[in-house]
Amino acid sequence: MRVRLDGGRVWDSALGDFIEASVAFDDETGEIVAVGHPSALRADEARSVRGLCLLPGFVDVHVHLRDPGLTHKETLASGLQAAAAGGFTQVACMPNTKPPIARAEVVEDIRRRGQEVGKAEVHPIACLTVDQAGQELANYQALGQAGALGFSDDGRGVQDGGLMREALAKLAALGKPAMIHAEDESISRGGALHERAAARLGTTAQPGSAEAAMIARDVLLAEETGAHLHVCHVSREASAAVVRFAKARGIRVTAEVTPHHLLLTERDIDRADANWKVNPPLAAEEDRRACLAAFADGTLDVIATDHAPHHPDEKAKGMDEAPFGMVGLETAFALLYTRLVREGLVSMRRLVEAMSERPCRLFGLEGGQVRPGARADLVLVDLGRRWTIDPDAFYSKGRNTPFAGWKVMGKVVETIRAGRTIFREGEERLS
Ligand SMILES: [Zn+2]
Repeated sequence: MRVRLDGGRVWDSALGDFIEASVAFDDETGEIVAVGHPSALRADEARSVRGLCLLPGFVDVHVHLRDPGLTHKETLASGLQAAAAGGFTQVACMPNTKPPIARAEVVEDIRRRGQEVGKAEVHPIACLTVDQAGQELANYQALGQAGALGFSDDGRGVQDGGLMREALAKLAALGKPAMIHAEDESISRGGALHERAAARLGTTAQPGSAEAAMIARDVLLAEETGAHLHVCHVSREASAAVVRFAKARGIRVTAEVTPHHLLLTERDIDRADANWKVNPPLAAEEDRRACLAAFADGTLDVIATDHAPHHPDEKAKGMDEAPFGMVGLETAFALLYTRLVREGLVSMRRLVEAMSERPCRLFGLEGGQVRPGARADLVLVDLGRRWTIDPDAFYSKGRNTPFAGWKVMGKVVETIRAGRTIFREGEERLS
């Protein structure tokens, strides 16, 4: 059946702005058929979306869905529904599950079960080293064939540079990206917070050089091997500078930045609330500004939420003992639209590019644009709607966010993947 959405403002990637237009898609092929004046677009069913903006579905290449094995934190159902509720049509999930995503069967199982959930599409990321232990390389060939989008030991860095060099050489031959959690543990030593926050609040510090040093090592290894190196959650000024240097040198490096590193600093941290504990830690104001500048000019390519749900009991252990991480899927767009676009710090064009177009392009995914022939992955947003972030209203099982109570603009009303509605505001929780 051919469906037409009328009366909305449609994102035109070439123009970098909204146009008044209708969008027609085929819900069987899952493709956009036409964008234009409604009188010229034949359809079996027409629906008014007046007052809403139609953006290409968001894509997050870095989330934690905790399934298999850690389903007290999140399940595929709750995580993929949370993604759809945040406007995401595709997410890539990190392999630090139980068991880790280290065998082809686990990759296949997550893809199959994800499809059954019928919400956002899930692309598993497989382990870079066996069980993320940093000792021997995973079987990239088999995992890639099973559908792994990329490879990562996210949560930990690969400490052995020689092993990392071998990994990148193999991945270059396979044509798949290495997605690195950059943390030299001989420097970080498990430190919980930024140096200044640690000194002020009396806990352990994670020096910024722990991140920048490993990025520097790995971009040089990427240069030697020709691999696609993707740097996860860049948080420091020096790290952004290394990525900038690598790109200027023509090295095949891409990078992501999280909403929390663009909006928060170590000064904001509440010592009594472990929801502020995240890895890499919230950094200094000068780091935040440098990351924001690098994001605005495209040096940091994409927004990734690093959505990391934890059970309330785990976060209740306090700043020193609690696990790292915050949830982010359901708040990312509204936070960035409100604090960056509406404040004039980043253009809407850049935000949409970083949340939709560029992740698709860099990782070879469908979607990313509202144009004929593209997959009908759409998010319908009411940009004029003001709402308050309330963790109890999340579809995610995770409530661990430092943004509770923030007033934001821009509410996701409906999300469509391949021509099928996968989220509608107010729908019931799956689990
Ligand atoms: Zn992560």
